[in-house]
Order: sequence, then C-alpha cells, then structure tokens
Amino acid sequence: TKQDFRRINDYIWEIPTSFHPQMKVPVWVFADEELLEDALGDLSITQAVNVACLPGLVGHVAIMPDVHQGYGMPIGGVMASLVPGGIISPGAVGYDINCGVRVLASPIDYQSAKPYLSDLASTLYRNCPSGVGEKGSIPLTTEELDNVCRKGARWALEHGYALEEDLPRTEEFGCLEGADPSKASKRAKERGRGQLGTLGAGNHFLEVDVIEEIYDREAAEIMGLQEGCLALQIHCGSRGFGHQICTDYVQDFQWAVINYGIQLPDRELVCAPIDSTEGQAYLAAMKAAANYAFANRQTLAYHARRSFKEIFGSQAGENPLRQVYDIAHNMAKIEKHRIEGKDMTVCVHRKGATRAFGPGFAGLPSEYRPIGQPVLVPGSMGTESWILLGTNTNEELSFGSTCHGAGRVMSRHKAKREIRGDLLRQELENEGISVRAGSMPGLAEEAPKAYKDVSRVVEAVSKAGIAHKVARLHPIAVVKG
Ligand code: 5GP
Ligand code: MN
Ligand code: MN
Repeated sequence: TKQDFRRINDYIWEIPTSFHPQMKVPVWVFADEELLEDALGDLSITQAVNVACLPGLVGHVAIMPDVHQGYGMPIGGVMASLVPGGIISPGAVGYDINCGVRVLASPIDYQSAKPYLSDLASTLYRNCPSGVGEKGSIPLTTEELDNVCRKGARWALEHGYALEEDLPRTEEFGCLEGADPSKASKRAKERGRGQLGTLGAGNHFLEVDVIEEIYDREAAEIMGLQEGCLALQIHCGSRGFGHQICTDYVQDFQWAVINYGIQLPDRELVCAPIDSTEGQAYLAAMKAAANYAFANRQTLAYHARRSFKEIFGSQAGENPLRQVYDIAHNMAKIEKHRIEGKDMTVCVHRKGATRAFGPGFAGLPSEYRPIGQPVLVPGSMGTESWILLGTNTNEELSFGSTCHGAGRVMSRHKAKREIRGDLLRQELENEGISVRAGSMPGLAEEAPKAYKDVSRVVEAVSKAGIAHKVARLHPIAVVKG
C-alpha cells in the first residue's frame, strides 16, 4: 500500500529494503500520487519488489509512471546488475526483444495532407505488411537471416531499405556488437525467416501524426520537427524471432538457476549469471534479435516512404520522411554508470522503458550530442504522443532511462470484453483519425481507454528530471495489424 512508500519528492517514491527481508536494493517509483495509485492497482509493485530480490543488483529498481504488470518483471521497469557478478534475465527484457519506436518527420503540413489522409492510411496499410502471418515479408535464407542478425539496420542499408543518414539516428547506429545467430534455436530461425519487414498484430502500429505543439524550439529544429507538419511513428519489434528466443532461454534458465543455486522470488524471473556460458549465450542471442528488430523497423520505414511518395509525389521532395530517431524499449545492455558515487559496469535491463542519455553522450550523432538522446513516447491511437530528450540528471535516478508509453490501465481481456472495435473505429474516424486494422477485436484491445493519460506520465518523468519535453503529437491516421 501507499504507506509502504517513503516520499523522496513529489515524483519519486521509495520502497526501502526493510520492506522485505530478501530485497537487495530499494525500489524507486517515478510517479505523481495518482499514477502511484494506478501502479498499486495491479501486480506491478509486487513484481518490482520481487525483482529487487535478484542477486547482484546495484542502485535501485526504477519503476516508470507507465508501469503495468508483465511476465516476471513489470513493463515500465529498469534494473541494473553488476558485471561481472550479477545476473541477466530474459523475462526482465521481455518477449518482444527490442520492441521499440521509430519516428520520422515529413515536410508535408497537415492542411495540405488533410484531403489525402484516408488514401494515405489505405496505402500504408497495403504497403506495410501486417497481421499474424508471413504475408508480404522479405523471405530470407538461413544464411541471410544470420546476416540480418549480425548487421541490423546496416543489412537494410545494403539491401536498399535505408538511407545512409538513418543509421546514426538509430540507437546503437542500428547494430549491436556481439550478436551471435548461432545462439538462436532452429525454431527461432524458422519463425524469423518469414517475418522480416512485417508489423505483426496486436499492440504494434504505424501512425501518422501532426506535430501539435513544440516545447523546446531549439531542440525541435535540430531534430527536424516543425509545428503543423506530419510525423510518422513505427512501433514494432523482433516478431516471432525474438519471442522464440525469449521462450527458449526462459526454459533453459530453469536449469541455470538450479545449477548456480540462485534463489528466486518468482519462477518467471529465471536468470543466469551474466558471466556464465548460459548468460553469455542469451546475451548474444538477444543481440541477434535486437538487430533483427532494427532491420525490421528500417524496412517498415522504407515501405512508409514508398507510401508517402505514392500519395504526395514530388510535393514530398526527395525524402518524404526524415528519420528523427529509433529507440528500443525492451533490451538489456552493458553500460558504465556512476552509482552511489562509484563507477560501475552494469547490465541495465530496460523492459517497457527507454534509454534516455543526456547531452554529451558520445553514442549520438554529432548534431544530437548538444541536446541529448531523443526519446519517443507513444500514447494511444486516440490521444497524444510525445517526443522527449534524455537528461544528465537521470543517470543517478534511473540509470539514464525513462518511460516508453502511457501504459495500460485495462487488461487486454477486459478491453476486448467491454469495447467494440467497429464502434471504436467509427468514433476515431469521426474525430478525424483514419483507422485501418486487420482485426476489430484486436483494435478494441488497444482502445485509448485501455491506457493511462500519457501527458500525465510525461509530466511525471519531466518533473522527476528523467526526461525533457520537446514536442507533442496528435494522431491522424493509424494502421494496426
Ligand atoms: P507496448 O510496447 O508496451 O505494448 O506499448 C507501448 C505504448 O504504446 C503503450 O504503453 C501505449 O501507450 C502506446 N500505444 C499503443 N497503441 C498505440 C497507438 O495505436 N498509437 C499510439 N500513438 N500509441 C499507442
Ligand atoms: Mn513495444
Ligand atoms: Mn512489441
């Protein structure tokens, strides 16, 4: 309950280690009072306390205001384990490895696009393969899949799906070092071969937005964001490939915890020592899936560009969609952080949370170095979304991380029961949002009502000092699988 929290300030709440004898580190929740109440409405906080009991953690477990319960670790959680000595946990990365968001900005303004929005939505829906199957994917041989795993967005560049300028504006330049496709199972590869360049179904989407308001003019200009112009968001991940890798390692690690004598508060948090053979194998397989996801979002960006050219022709210029940034929100990464006054190498697990490094971070392209790393925060298909920047103050607070969305308040199951997809679609269309979706029950699961108020979430992270507002977007065309 709320009584178990110590208020650090209006936007940071702590559960001290004295709360539970097994806790190794405290839990910090980033939220205002209302969002804290929301977090207490499901198993999120219980799961966060479980996570805090894992061996080798340092600092604290950071919980974002968009938190909701997940598999083992809540979605909207960040934990850091010591390298070497700590653990790595597939459940704390998530099933959709490197699920993430890419945002591109268009020179087309809303007024001139308005008459074509319905066509644009249909064209995006036609050109960007979606749904549960493999239709429209780029078929890959096993060798070619291995190349995708090793090269990520660079593979897409080599095959004409990217512009050179896209890569520096992608987290890790769209390719993680050390990916090893041989650490992915045959089953994972079978699933991965037929799904590259597809959106999938469910929570993944493509969305055209209008940039409604700018909060930081200088940064927005550097990022190419112009009030009144269009932007496009792509949200998807590593499809069946990443999902199978997570499934496989969750199963393998049931043995690892026994072999290494790891005490678990919850079996869903199975893990292995980061420096063990098992831990390293998962890390290398996870990186392969992450690179697959970078290539996947890159290929979808190619289809989106193609669609914009079809609709707007030369009006859109050479490049109708310039990349703003692409970030992961399900990933584990080896990073150096200053924690409690000491420099440490840690494995930062971000699940439903994004990296949000501040100004000066060397891994950014030169134009972004003075402003910090862009952060992309989708809200819902009926409400606003946000573009933020990382800060320097967040390192000590959240290992350089921030929120990834609005976060659910209603389970998928409940949403499907209470909301009718066809009526929802009509409502959105009436509000000027073109909706194309493969499944009406699927659409209902993603209803705006099923999510928290994203602006409240963004206000909380910005007041807490872990992100900085740049622009607010409003949806005008949405494609769902
Ligand atoms: P997740 O990856 O955790 O499923 O979703 C990330 C976030 O995307 C959710 O928390 C939600 O706020 C947001 N979201 C879900 N569907 C849509 C959509 O259709 N459009 C936008 N802009 N955001 C969405
Ligand atoms: Mn996601
Ligand atoms: Mn996903």
